[in-house]
Amino acid sequence: MSIISDSLKRIKPSPTIAVTQKARELRIAGKDVIGLGAGEPDFDTPKNIKKSAIRAIKDGETKYTAVDGTPKLKNAIIKKFKRENNLKYSTDEITVGTGGKQVIYNTFMATLNKGDEVIIPAPFWVSYPDIVLLAGGKPKIVKCSESEEFKLTPKKLKKAISKKTKWLILNSPSNPTGIGYTKKEITNLSKVLIQKKKIHILSDDIYEHITYDNFKFSTIAQISKLKSRTLTMNGVSKSYAMTGWRIGYAGGPKNIIKAIRKIQSQSTSNPSSISQAAAVEALNGTQKFIKKRSNAFKQRRDFVVESLNKINGINCLKPNGAFYVFPNCKKLLGKKTKLKNDSDFVKKLLEKSNVAVVQGSAFGLDGHFRISYATSMKKLKVAMKRIKSFCEKIS
Ligand code: GLU
Repeated sequence: MSIISDSLKRIKPSPTIAVTQKARELRIAGKDVIGLGAGEPDFDTPKNIKKSAIRAIKDGETKYTAVDGTPKLKNAIIKKFKRENNLKYSTDEITVGTGGKQVIYNTFMATLNKGDEVIIPAPFWVSYPDIVLLAGGKPKIVKCSESEEFKLTPKKLKKAISKKTKWLILNSPSNPTGIGYTKKEITNLSKVLIQKKKIHILSDDIYEHITYDNFKFSTIAQISKLKSRTLTMNGVSKSYAMTGWRIGYAGGPKNIIKAIRKIQSQSTSNPSSISQAAAVEALNGTQKFIKKRSNAFKQRRDFVVESLNKINGINCLKPNGAFYVFPNCKKLLGKKTKLKNDSDFVKKLLEKSNVAVVQGSAFGLDGHFRISYATSMKKLKVAMKRIKSFCEKIS
């Protein structure tokens, strides 16, 4: 009899974290690796936020807090939802967890029974299906093609819905494609969902503030009649460069929020009291740097997309958000290059050219790879040169 549980055997370690760790190890071993694997801003956490954390330590805010968030942080989140999304939530409709990932984990642990289905449009963030599997649910993967900008269409959504569908996950702007849904597109999806009264929606809005070219962010609870069935998930990691602080949050129906609290009370208890104090300042303090940083990301996006499209065999859509691109490398796979699939491509790119990226198949769509361009222009320039010469050499 194995000591490892059956539920754990259903899942694999997170591939994005594995690539990031591998790049870290290679660097420690003295290799000049450029990591484009990790989905985290290279910017530092703003000073006012750090100061808030230091103040919290000095003031002795070092004890347990309410399991799912301090009243101060919940108030800051309520204000954020009102200010930025025109969404009204009360305190018992808000939960705070140790990163967005914990909020998602708790949600599925709290709501899925064996065999319940969760519709996940592919390409998807690597952890959605595995969290669903761990919770005993069934991921229903819907492949969204490049010609549809990797977005779920109402027709595909309708087709994927069954009697067992409990949730739909929407993530806009998307990890790994960087592409966001317009208000109209979300409205069209919601028309299908309004008919299906039992389906809940998890809207992962973590990249809300990283958008370009006048793209207007919209979230489903705000623009449809589905608020009572939607969990609007967000966090401070990406917008405020606070990945290590681990604060994610959500607004949603009271019964789900209460169930999440129950799980959290039996697992981690509250997220770090210091991080919560910092998150209050992030949400209530100045928001000026967000635009500035988005502009820097935009320059990098333009450079990366242009450079990739100049490489023979690579084709890359221009996304309107997040800090990822999801280029197609299918033309470079096959007999000629002796690379069977995107995992081979990514492995060889790291081995031969010291650039770490993540294979598309990890996100549910092979023949692609994901680049996180949340790194300095200097490094991106070297990385693009290396990718170009790698592709030329294998062709
Ligand atoms: N969300 C980021 C990524 O996709 C962070 C790593 C993770 O949790 O997957 O790279």
